[in-house]
Amino acid sequence: MSEPEAQLVRLMRDSKYTVVLTGAGISTESGLPDFRSPSGLWKQYDPMKVATIWTLRADPELFYDFYKKRLAIMEGARPNQAHFAVADLGKLGMVKAVITQNIDGLHQEAGSSNVIELHGSLREAACIDCRRPHDIGAIKLDQVRRCDCGGLLKPNVVLFGEQLPPDAFELATGEATRCDLMIVVGSSLEVSPANMLPAMVKARGMKLVIVNLGETGFDTRADLVIRKKAGEVLTAAAEALKRGGGRRTQT
Ligand code: NAD
Ligand code: ZN
Repeated sequence: MSEPEAQLVRLMRDSKYTVVLTGAGISTESGLPDFRSPSGLWKQYDPMKVATIWTLRADPELFYDFYKKRLAIMEGARPNQAHFAVADLGKLGMVKAVITQNIDGLHQEAGSSNVIELHGSLREAACIDCRRPHDIGAIKLDQVRRCDCGGLLKPNVVLFGEQLPPDAFELATGEATRCDLMIVVGSSLEVSPANMLPAMVKARGMKLVIVNLGETGFDTRADLVIRKKAGEVLTAAAEALKRGGGRRTQT
């Protein structure tokens, strides 16, 4: 185990309340591209232009076309070792909550229980007017679909131009004000307001660890930055913590 990984294990052993904040980078090892990777889908479509509430209203066919492709990619994806390591750490009581910007549902599939989805879920659809949930199958069809109320159906994810679900963000800020250690995994921390959460943790003088391949705007404020693949780092940490029986008993 490398020294940064050993330092992560020490921070987790010393913590009484650790939360994990994840982004698209934790799911790249499951074959789901993040925004910045040179994958076909994100090259073909600019998410800032297509995955917006304005595109859904103005050009629903283009919007549906993009989400149908995104759903097809997501359908084959399974959790990877990073999701499983986070779930194992949750079962050991060493991760109290997982706050995710992802919409792929892979944390829950890996067995994490306290998952806060900041940007909704691609596993169901909803009406943009009455908000009633609908089967995600509606988005996979060729025609643009409407609810009984006449509203357009969209995947139940937060689109650019939409507010975050207030309850999810409230739960997340609750965790950010309760934790003594936040581990950010696979996020560029460029998307707001999710990136307010690590700022809250540092404002309270608590510890912040960033496990991310690329640089983030929070690297200089973090107590530890590990620029390695999430799967490798989290598996090593979970194995060490399992071997050590979880929480430190002596002080
Ligand atoms: P991002 O694309 O802005 O950043 C991802 C970061 O992860 C990058 O800095 C990259 O260097 C890093 N990374 C990639 N693979 C990694 C790995 N194996 N280990 C460690 N780090 C790795 O993603 P973001 O910060 O989540 O913000 C973008 C938005 O994209 C979010 O709103 C999210 O909802 C959405 N998104 C979600 C998914 C998904 O649900 N799987 C996929 C693409 C985009
Ligand atoms: Zn409706």
